Amino acid sequence: MKKNNFSINFWGVRGSCATSKNKSAVYGTNTSCVELLVGDHLIILDAGTGIYPLGEHLCSINKAQKGHIFISHPHYDHIQGLPFFIPFYSSLNAYTIYGEQKLDIPFENILVDYMKKPYFPISWNDFDAHITVLNIAPKETVAIDRNVSVSAIRVNHPGENLAFRIDAYGKSCCYITDIEHRDYSSELIAFARNADIVIYDASLTKEEYSKAEYNGWGHSTWLVAANLANEANVGKLILFHHAINKTDDEILNIQKQTCTVFPNTVAASEGLEINL
Ligand SMILES: [Zn+2]
Ligand SMILES: [Zn+2]
Repeated sequence: MKKNNFSINFWGVRGSCATSKNKSAVYGTNTSCVELLVGDHLIILDAGTGIYPLGEHLCSINKAQKGHIFISHPHYDHIQGLPFFIPFYSSLNAYTIYGEQKLDIPFENILVDYMKKPYFPISWNDFDAHITVLNIAPKETVAIDRNVSVSAIRVNHPGENLAFRIDAYGKSCCYITDIEHRDYSSELIAFARNADIVIYDASLTKEEYSKAEYNGWGHSTWLVAANLANEANVGKLILFHHAINKTDDEILNIQKQTCTVFPNTVAASEGLEINL
């Protein structure tokens, strides 16, 4: 790995539920999981079902892994892959998981409770890897080393959520998913300011969002994503968290519409790789 390497790999780009209903060949069916390789560090954003193929991949290339997993919020589509993350079943691996406490429950307890019988046959303590779970709160920054940091801010979503910004070697990537419009604030613009990459929740079209049932749903539109990208002067916009009812053609169409407002836009797909 190059010393100042900063690459972003997409393993799951859907929201809500992994599905093959639409036989998506282009964008994929797994829920949120993004891998960042930054210098010597492995950083994983969310542990939706996309973390399963990522785990297979990691085990095929490295027998002794060390990584950092940041969880935006513990809705199922962002943690459902954790029990199936194969690296957790080897004592050679060491991972630190960061997430926010909810309802006064420390984040570690949230994960432990989620892997209890009768929900799952294997308990959290059955993992063989060395796993540390830490609380992270809005406005906190985790220094992975002196060149690599991960910052968090609060975004609006049912049950509340965190967005992350990874800065390293003068490059940056923001991960802003599961967010509803009213968060489109000066704080969010400052958070995304001059980022090379912004990954943003584009679950809904503006027509869908105009319907009452999507008000308070907790998700955003491609138009808000594009406006934020312009205002914050970002390098490239990645549309993310595609709704489960969207076909490949519909997502491609959303990408085309977004490009009319912010030209350097691409819709995230499983297998998309970006090197900064
Ligand atoms: Zn989600
Ligand atoms: Zn959510």
